[in-house]
Amino acid sequence: MDEIKLKPCPFCGRMPKVRRSAIGGCGAWVEVRCKPLFRREHLAVQHGAALMERAFDMAVEDWNRRAEKWKKSN
Ligand SMILES: [Zn+2]
Repeated sequence: MDEIKLKPCPFCGRMPKVRRSAIGGCGAWVEVRCKPLFRREHLAVQHGAALMERAFDMAVEDWNRRAEKWKKSN
């Protein structure tokens, strides 16, 4: 399976942090976000799904879509 490439943060160009959490045997939660220390976060997306892989894919896709959209509108 091809791994989806995560785009860098459209605000600062850094790679966002990915946090994966399992939800007590019934699902997974993935958060992708860029938050500089002591500053407001630049961009953040969260997705939950039954499978970690699926939650991860959705979060990455969503992040990439928002990063692109932000670039186009600026
Ligand atoms: Zn950023």
